[in-house]
Amino acid sequence: LKPDTTQTPLRVSTHPLYLIDLAGNQAMLACPECRTWLAVVDGMLPPHRSDHQPDQPRRDKTAPRRPRCAASRRPVVLDLSPSTWASEFAIGARDAGMRRGNRVFADPRSESSPQTPVPVPVFRMART
Ligand SMILES: [Zn+2]
Repeated sequence: LKPDTTQTPLRVSTHPLYLIDLAGNQAMLACPECRTWLAVVDGMLPPHRSDHQPDQPRRDKTAPRRPRCAASRRPVVLDLSPSTWASEFAIGARDAGMRRGNRVFADPRSESSPQTPVPVPVFRMART
């Protein structure tokens, strides 16, 4: 089985990081066409059908099989090392976490509006 050279090679470095998994012994990619996770074999996406969707773990056996995914046998250029992928993926995850944190701590009041004093809770007033 050989890669389909009529298709544009998929450069891993241009594929979204979260659709790549280089943590294992074999490079995994989510197909750019159908999002099926595939192990890269012989420098290409293996032939697969687009009827296997993540939201449909069980295919309807009575339904006619869909044609092969258009990205079947698409050449893959592994131009991203596992260590580069891992560090960039970690940075992306950290940045996403920081963005969430900023939203939580953001002060919606503008600088011109007076700061409303926070009332002291009743249970603390009793002790002071
Ligand atoms: Zn596909």
